[in-house]
Amino acid sequence: MEIKKKDIRALTKEQLRNFFVEQKDKAFRGNQVYEWLWQKSAYSFDVMTNLSKETRNMLEDNFVINHIKVDQMQRSSDGTIKNAVRLHDGLVVESVLIPTASRTTACVSSQVGCSLDCKFCATSRLKRMRNLNPDEIYDQVVAIDNESRLYFDRPLSNIVFMGMGEPLMNYNNVLKAIDKITSPEGLGMSPKRIVVSTSGVPKMIRKMADEEVKFGLAVSLHSAIDEVRTSIMPFNATFPLKDLREALEYWYSKTKNRITYEYVVWEGINDTREAVDALVKFCKFAPSKVNIIEYNPIDDGEFQQASHTAVDMYKNILEKNGITVTVRRSRGKDIDAACGQLANKDA
Ligand code: SAH
Repeated sequence: MEIKKKDIRALTKEQLRNFFVEQKDKAFRGNQVYEWLWQKSAYSFDVMTNLSKETRNMLEDNFVINHIKVDQMQRSSDGTIKNAVRLHDGLVVESVLIPTASRTTACVSSQVGCSLDCKFCATSRLKRMRNLNPDEIYDQVVAIDNESRLYFDRPLSNIVFMGMGEPLMNYNNVLKAIDKITSPEGLGMSPKRIVVSTSGVPKMIRKMADEEVKFGLAVSLHSAIDEVRTSIMPFNATFPLKDLREALEYWYSKTKNRITYEYVVWEGINDTREAVDALVKFCKFAPSKVNIIEYNPIDDGEFQQASHTAVDMYKNILEKNGITVTVRRSRGKDIDAACGQLANKDA
């Protein structure tokens, strides 16, 4: 029977060092290999030229390097790039590169599919197939960094966990990936340039606060009225707004990081004065800002973007109450790369 080789990137640096000691070699070889695997993103042992051929063969006999492959890259007329990323077991996730005049943002996935059932989101139709490993998240970032250098002549500047999946339901792996992304032994990016977006899992928001993480937090709110929120985001029945609000207050007390609320205004759902007032009230509990995002239709027409008048009403009332609000246009719509459109359509 063939023995299944272990993925070498599942090892910590310490474990790699120990492995070399067990092989009667020097511990620092572990550091060398670790540097190849993370800082240099080596996807084969052959390229590790500061190791002897013998050592490389030995590694090959013991391990594999599981890695992603960008199967298909699509470019939008607005410069946005969408990658269909094939994982080592054949499953596919998507990640997006969003260029603006001054920055390049990577929008990365944390799960294959999603276990939440948000009625307006295409990813929810895929259901959750599995969590991504830390290296699979890391590799998406590296692929986009490479594309940013190639097409825009600059490195990646920001990362948002707003691709497929619910990052806080794959908490450990997301945090491990962020550790590698921010470590000087990985990509050395500042955590201040990273935002984790969640539908709102109170327990995990508290855990992040306790760990005093340094990255930003965005919450996909869409409604501050329980009944309405539950009708469009059914898990709100399990994690009602009161629990979410308390977790967010706790987050702010620990991190002093203000929270971003992602919010879509839909016709007949939350385009009322009552909905705005509820949002204003919700925003008062912890310092926050509101990002009103445009609805990206996902085929069946059940949801409709609200009128400009309704969006203006939100903007005016929020501003009158001293709450920062931005109204964002979508990017990459023509290639199904915009918020909520990631659904492996072409895979
Ligand atoms: N599960 C996490 C990460 C996904 S982020 C979260 O919910 O935050 C994807 C963002 O796009 C979320 O803010 C989500 O609410 C929003 N979104 C989903 N479908 C959308 C659609 N069709 N149009 C616009 N935004 C959408």
